[in-house]
Formats: sequence, C-alpha cells, structure tokens
Amino acid sequence: MSITMAPRRIPSDQEASGRTLGEREIAYVSEAINSGTLTSTKGRFVRALERTFADMLGAKHAYACSSGSAAVHCAIAALDLEPGDEVVTTPITDMGAIAPILYQGAIPVFADVDARTLNVTAATIEAALSERTKAIVVTHLFGIPCEMRAIEALAQKLGLPIIEDCAQAFLATHRDRYVGTIGTIGTFSLQQGKHVTTGEGGLVVTNDDTLARRMYLFINKAWDYGDASPDHYFLALNYRMSELQGAVGLAQLEKLERAVERRILLANIMGKWLESVPGISLPLIPLEGRGVYWRYAIRLDPAFFPGGPTVFAKRLKDQSILTAPRYIARPAFECAVIREQRTFGNSRWPFTLARSEAVHYDRARYPGVYAGLDQVLVIPWNDKLTIGDVEYIARSIIAAARELRKAS
Ligand SMILES: *Cc1c(COP(=O)(O)O)cnc(C)c1O
Repeated sequence: MSITMAPRRIPSDQEASGRTLGEREIAYVSEAINSGTLTSTKGRFVRALERTFADMLGAKHAYACSSGSAAVHCAIAALDLEPGDEVVTTPITDMGAIAPILYQGAIPVFADVDARTLNVTAATIEAALSERTKAIVVTHLFGIPCEMRAIEALAQKLGLPIIEDCAQAFLATHRDRYVGTIGTIGTFSLQQGKHVTTGEGGLVVTNDDTLARRMYLFINKAWDYGDASPDHYFLALNYRMSELQGAVGLAQLEKLERAVERRILLANIMGKWLESVPGISLPLIPLEGRGVYWRYAIRLDPAFFPGGPTVFAKRLKDQSILTAPRYIARPAFECAVIREQRTFGNSRWPFTLARSEAVHYDRARYPGVYAGLDQVLVIPWNDKLTIGDVEYIARSIIAAARELRKAS
C-alpha cells in the first residue's frame, strides 16, 4: 500500500505556527521599550526572568546570558580549569556545547553513548576518564533525561562536577528532581527552536554560591557592578541578555509548564500509534524520569529497514514532514574544528596539550555513537501540533514503514 494522504502543513517552531509568542510577550516588550532601559544591568525583566526560572526549578541561583553556547561557556569557565585539563562530554550534541571547553583551554574527551537513547551513561563516561579529568558534561538529548543515578554516584566517588546541558530538556525530571539541578550546574538555551524562546538566549542554574558568582561575573566582563570598588577580576566577556529578550523570556516562562505537558501528551498519543509497528522503537525514558520531547526521536531497526533513516526521511518529506535522519551529519569529533584542530591561528592549541589517546577518535571506541546515528530518525515536535497533526505524522510513518519493509 502506498501513501495516499494529501500533504498537510505541520506547525513549525521556526515561525508563528509552532510558537506561542503573543500578547503577553508584546506587552512586556512594550513595557521594556517604554521604560527606556534595555540593558539588564539596570532593567527589571532579565532579573525577573532569572528569579522566576530559579524558583521554577527550585535552584538557588539562575543567570540569563546570550545563548545556550554562552551558558555552557559560563559553566566551564566557572570551574576555572587549567589548560590541558580534560572534560568528558558527548560527541552527539550541538557544537555550542563543545567549543566553550576549547575556548577555556581544556580538552573535550568524548564518551560513547547508549545507542538506544544517544545519551551518555555512567559506563561510557567511566571509559573516557583519566587522571586529568576535571569535569563531566551530560546532555539530556531530545529532552530525555540521562540515567543520572549512576552518573551522580560516579561523579561523587571521583569528586568531579557535573554540568547538565539541558538545552533540549526544560522541566525534564529524574527521580523527582529537575534536570539542571541534579548536577553542579545546569545550562539551558532559549534559541528559536527550543521549548521556549527569546530568539537567542541562555540560562544557567546552580545551588553553589561560589560557582554562581563566577558565572555572574563571566557574563559581565568579570566586573561586579554591585562591588564598592569593582575591578575586572579575570578574563571574561560580555554575555549579557538584553531587556528585550528578558521581557520575551519572562512571558515565555509563564507558558513553559503547559507547553511541556502538551508535548508529553502528544508524545504519548504518538507512542500509542507507533508502539506495535515492527522495526520501530519509541523514545526510551528512564524508569524514574520524565521526558519532555524537544523532538520525537524513533529508532529504525536496520534488519527491518536496510535503507535506514535517510530513505525513511525521503518518504516522509513527500508528505511534507521534515524529519532529521541521523540527527546530526556526523559526531562532533568528525567535524573540521576538532578533526583538523582548527582553533587559534595555526597553533592547534589547546589540542597540543592533549594526551594522544584523548584525541584519538577510533571508530571502534564509539559503537553506540555509530549504531545510534545509523538508526535514529528525529521527528519535529512542538506544543502547537494538533492531535490531527500527530495522527497524520503517525499514519505517514506507518505507511512508510510498510512500504520500505516490503521493498527490502
Ligand atoms: C541548542 C543547543 C545548544 C546551544 O544553544 P545555542 O542557544 O544555540 O547556543 C547546546 N547544547 C544543546 C544540546 C543544544 O540543543
């Protein structure tokens, strides 16, 4: 049987159809503009955004910054690493989560991932540790929390801080704690395509007073406007969010819990449609976790679908469903910046400080990464989808699965 449904326009988070930007945002932005104060050092909106977000997560401190990449940079910088120190992280993430490690002179050491979730695990992190490891970054990919219990235990045993990259995981939980507050520092992105958005923007949270102060300073050229005789205490940039973004962000936060609940409801409906389709596996949520579905990522068993996600995605594109086969084109260590060590001039620094094994990206060390990418099909997801949209996407997937299985 071939696909016969007429193509349908699916809401997109890249424009109004898939976003909840509205009257509330306009009212707050108007207030910011009318106040004449667009800098967060003097205005009220960014401060309110930070307080609201900290309270939502039950975190002691939250600071807003200019992007999710800046948020990760704040977190790494707060740790005050020595050049050549190692940070264990994932190769399946946004480059914005990896570049900050290099900017701070540290070496990203890539852990393998669980092929089923594309998330790092305690076991894959442990295999990437060395005596030079100074921090662990975990990414809750697609909004599905990592198995944090074992990761926390490992980090505690070794006395290592955990940075949780929650850019895709607003209000995801594991064992009744929000991700971002389980580790030492949590980082978030407010980029156009995330759960809530200010166009560009980021947030960091922590319960640690010292790290909080360092992150605040890192956002502000390490100059504390509140100090009696301030100085530029260390090397830092201006990573501030403006009041215009703060105003939008505050309005967006008011909608966050509902948006997350809606994404979960729709994902559960999708799950009912797809759960018994041979060769398709649904997102795997940890037993004590809440996934928040930044995207809806399914796995295609290669024994059923020899063409893999790329062929599958082509079929769905004919139905105007724009999926991301393999999620990212290649793991981070295959990107030029890392593969060819293109950093500062021709110096290759800080890679010149690295242990040779730490920068040796042998395929055999990453079975989960390659198997996972070969199988994953990432379906766009947002809280503006209707139940009809989900049904349409599900029926299209079921039809494609039937067709592609037959052809094999
Ligand atoms: C989006 C994203 C980032 C980077 O955020 P920007 O706001 O685009 O800089 C970092 N990590 C992950 C996992 C992301 O999805």
